[in-house]
Amino acid sequence: AIRLRQVSKSWGEQVVIPGLDLDIPRGGLTALLGPSGCGKSTLLRLIAGLEHPDSGSVEIDGHDVTAAPPAQRGLSMVFQSYALFPHLSVAENIVFGLKVRSLARGEREHRLQEALRLTNLAGLEQRKPAQLSGGQRQRVALARSIVSGHSLCLMDEPLSNLDAKLRHSVRHEIRSLQQRLGMTVVYVTHDQTEALGMADTVVLLDQGRIAQQGAPAELYNQPRNTFCATFIGTPP
Ligand code: ATP
Ligand code: MG
Repeated sequence: AIRLRQVSKSWGEQVVIPGLDLDIPRGGLTALLGPSGCGKSTLLRLIAGLEHPDSGSVEIDGHDVTAAPPAQRGLSMVFQSYALFPHLSVAENIVFGLKVRSLARGEREHRLQEALRLTNLAGLEQRKPAQLSGGQRQRVALARSIVSGHSLCLMDEPLSNLDAKLRHSVRHEIRSLQQRLGMTVVYVTHDQTEALGMADTVVLLDQGRIAQQGAPAELYNQPRNTFCATFIGTPP
């Protein structure tokens, strides 16, 4: 489980996260949902270790990781910009992190084939990112996260560069991979349809605070206040 206690983060004068307690369970997909600028990416980066809190603590599976660098947190990340290396092939992009971790060649190959199969990228492994569609590039980013072997994956708006049709299909792919591999996914989105449609738990954020946390049906049927009702779009 991920456990934040009294986590705060400011940029200069601007308080983005004002002392937040957050619990994210192991297993399942938890969506961090909220309007643009409410602090979703900052929160995800704090969990990932790409940012450090001004105060408070971050725990992952019972370990205090508040001061730990990203590589020591046992997680992988998928971003909206895919962040692929343009000069490397699909296969090289996928196993890049494994090389850094100096995993044996056989094991690397085995995981690569498995990830290619799971993400429907078989046959494309020698292409360069520029020779792929947006959806295929996003799947390379997913495959890279799968080969890492970490069961915790953080995703920041992974579908935002895709057109509506691809968004729909990649969304289902993410959900089905998460379920089949038993991964814990923390999924940032500003799209309430996406969050309600795919998450087990939704954390709705309002200016760095939790407005409401619960199952999609709960947020939809019992919005806790006007902000929640308006954001989720529940008819009055
Ligand atoms: P979006 O849905 O648009 O991605 P978000 O909820 O992810 O928004 P954040 O990126 O977490 O929002 O940003 C929260 C606030 O913190 C914004 O006002 C943003 O301008 C500010 N902010 C984020 N990163 C930095 C930074 N590195 N330096 C200064 N301000 C920042
Ligand atoms: Mg963001």
